[in-house]
Amino acid sequence: MGRAIVVGAGLAGLSAAVRLVEAGFAVEIAEAAAQAGGRCRSYHDVQLGLTIDNGNHLVLAGNPAVARFRRTVGADTPLAGPDHADFAFADLASGARWTIGINDGPLPWWVLTPSRRVPGSRLADYLPLAKLLAKAPGATLGQRITAAGPVWEKLLEPVLLAVLNTPPTEGSAALTAAVLRETLLRGGKATLPRIAEPTLAAAFIDPAATWLAQRGAPITLGKRLRAIETKGDRLSALDWGDTWQELTDETIVLAVPAWIAQGLLPGISAPDVHNSIVNAHFAVALPAGAPPMLALLGAKAQWLFAFPDRISVTVSAAEDIVGLDREELARIFWDEIQRAYGFSANLPAWQVVKEKRATFAATPDQDAKRPPAQTRWNNLLLAGDWTQTGLPATIEGALRSGETAAGLAIAALRR
Ligand SMILES: Cc1cc2nc3c(=O)[nH]c(=O)nc-3n(C[C@H](O)[C@H](O)[C@H](O)COP(=O)(O)OP(=O)(O)OC[C@H]3O[C@@H](n4cnc5c(N)ncnc54)[C@H](O)[C@@H]3O)c2cc1C
Repeated sequence: MGRAIVVGAGLAGLSAAVRLVEAGFAVEIAEAAAQAGGRCRSYHDVQLGLTIDNGNHLVLAGNPAVARFRRTVGADTPLAGPDHADFAFADLASGARWTIGINDGPLPWWVLTPSRRVPGSRLADYLPLAKLLAKAPGATLGQRITAAGPVWEKLLEPVLLAVLNTPPTEGSAALTAAVLRETLLRGGKATLPRIAEPTLAAAFIDPAATWLAQRGAPITLGKRLRAIETKGDRLSALDWGDTWQELTDETIVLAVPAWIAQGLLPGISAPDVHNSIVNAHFAVALPAGAPPMLALLGAKAQWLFAFPDRISVTVSAAEDIVGLDREELARIFWDEIQRAYGFSANLPAWQVVKEKRATFAATPDQDAKRPPAQTRWNNLLLAGDWTQTGLPATIEGALRSGETAAGLAIAALRR
């Protein structure tokens, strides 16, 4: 029976490796970095004196691959989040505050209840939501609906900016529809926001690494794939820098970021425009009674997340601020946090983390460049949030891409 080699121990690679091990195959896992997790990693930050994630990551209760993955690897600390899908908003420019209360079941009666919907909106303002659920290949959201009015400005734009990590009017209508059909359309229970606590490492990465190691598939850290040799319709060798590995009956799952995959395999199709995400963390506890997750309008900060030991800021598609000095960003965000929560205090210990290539831009053009898992080489499968998952670049998408690649690898190995 052939072996599998998984290159990259981000969530896509880990998901593929877990599936392959479950199916009884011997698996080698090589990760270039000194730790697993890729864009979903945790580390101890000396400036803050806290262990934090590279970015605040939100999943939704209805994400099936998240549940499958965590169940399989025995990640038993529950993800944190509210009992109901209530989303609090504050507009720092106007001072207005509101909470969208999506009811639990699939029948969207929340749009009928003024206290649960966007202030100043009428029932008719929600009808365009139906358009967002329809599949619309090749279209942007701006082409599908009128990007104006209270429901757009006070709900859809801030939420979809976070979902797509792309200015929503330029975003892919098909990717938006896929997310909404799996979450909002199924009701509040599927749309519950969930966050890893205390860290992404604890909720996803460490349990998977332990599970794999216990089954004879430890992750080899600091092992970078430098080049790939192909012969006809197969990969024939892998260049690891210090070793040259001739391939015989191995199947490879390449689970590296898009730009690395393109460097290793010139000519493959892959998204080539990426958007940044800026996160900032402040070592201070949330004031009593304040909402632990708050969307901001009229501010540079877009979402505030409260953890027991810190308040964190997320800014998606942050191209207009990613170049600013970190000190300046910290001061801007700290001012906004105080205004949002209505308190005043000196700037506490802080950290600003910029991820310049956080995700591919979720536009129709970039979506069209995403390749399937299957390649023209019989013993090579691709995985990663940038492959053709039908979802934007998300944890759920990365995990599903790993499952898909593993399924195809298992079929190839059994042939
Ligand atoms: C700041 C930030 C916030 C985010 N927020 C959210 C969110 O709220 N919700 C959500 O669902 N998603 C979010 N995402 C997206 C999510 O993190 C990614 O979709 C997911 O982690 C991608 O996983 P991946 O395995 O496809 O890729 P990666 O995590 O990039 O993994 C690729 C791995 O390959 C390794 N590698 C690279 N080159 C080589 C090589 N030559 N040889 C061996 N190994 C190599 C890398 O070191 C890395 O570990 C966010 C991302 C960022 C950056």
